[in-house]
Amino acid sequence: MTIRLAIAGFGKIARDQHVPAVTASDGIELAAIADPHGGIDGVAHYATLDELLAEAPEIDAVALCTPPQVRGALAASALRAGKHVLLEKPPGATVSELEPLIAMARQTGRTLFAAWHSRFAPAVEPARDFLAGRRIKSVVVEWKEDVRIWHPGQAWIWEPGGLGVFDPGINALSVMTRILPYRFFLTRSELSFPQNRAAPIAADLVFSDEASTVIRAEFDWRQTGQQTWDVRVETDAGLLTFAAGGRRLLHDDRVLVDEKKSEYRLIYRRFAELIANGVSDVDLSPLVHVADAFLLGRRRDVEPFDEV
Ligand code: NAP
Repeated sequence: MTIRLAIAGFGKIARDQHVPAVTASDGIELAAIADPHGGIDGVAHYATLDELLAEAPEIDAVALCTPPQVRGALAASALRAGKHVLLEKPPGATVSELEPLIAMARQTGRTLFAAWHSRFAPAVEPARDFLAGRRIKSVVVEWKEDVRIWHPGQAWIWEPGGLGVFDPGINALSVMTRILPYRFFLTRSELSFPQNRAAPIAADLVFSDEASTVIRAEFDWRQTGQQTWDVRVETDAGLLTFAAGGRRLLHDDRVLVDEKKSEYRLIYRRFAELIANGVSDVDLSPLVHVADAFLLGRRRDVEPFDEV
């Protein structure tokens, strides 16, 4: 049976990744779009999700690609209308808003899927397999990119709930929570806030685990030139380098993975499997680490940030 999908929030990620992934996937078709601005030719368009749900009852599933601040309320409407729901990352603006949604999905027998796209990068599962059972000596994460390139004109990202540099940083956390063999917890957080913004532009984080491993993570949006999305894990068997956001994986100098990413194709494959099996998949651990970073965060004021 083909899944008739609606996308709510038709901005950069919906256009760049969701539409091509759905178009290339068997068993799922884009049937409607809800967005205040517009959609694409040949696909029914509604200004709001409520209108879409009222006027297009044949829709089976909704992918929520809006900014996170409105995601919880939209997910509740979609589940209430009996739809399966895919949540872009981060799954919500708070941790606590997710619990009623998980309960609602269970009660209505619908699938709720918190899609962590970086976990679908080709290096993730090989890294997890390599690290299983190893002694970890240290972990260094560098997730540094140029906000002007990746988020031009996105005011919401600098507002409360928009997460600032944790918008990309949560991708690193989604990878760390998947590949590291032990649970880890935050011990120090320093957050750099531009004087004219309500969200951080950089974060220096230190985590530890049961074995007192030092895990450092630096997220920074001020990087120009080469962009860095790397995790380096020193182990008893050598250095494992997860590079280029998971496109590459190296063990010391040996290349284990060097592949193009197809994260969103795999996200939709997983969504279809979850729907077929009647189950949900909502791992909140990356969002919990972000919440901890704000709870423990020492605030540093840095120079104002302007787009140009
Ligand atoms: P975006 O370009 O700002 O697009 C968001 C769209 O949602 C806008 O058209 C916005 O309209 C619309 N919208 C806002 N509230 C809505 C509502 N209540 N109902 C329907 N549509 C609504 O943002 P984006 O970059 O696509 O990011 C969206 C989400 O995807 C974020 O959570 C982000 O973390 C995640 N994501 C983004 C990327 C990326 O590379 N950009 C990558 C992976 C994941 P208005 O502009 O009028 O508000």
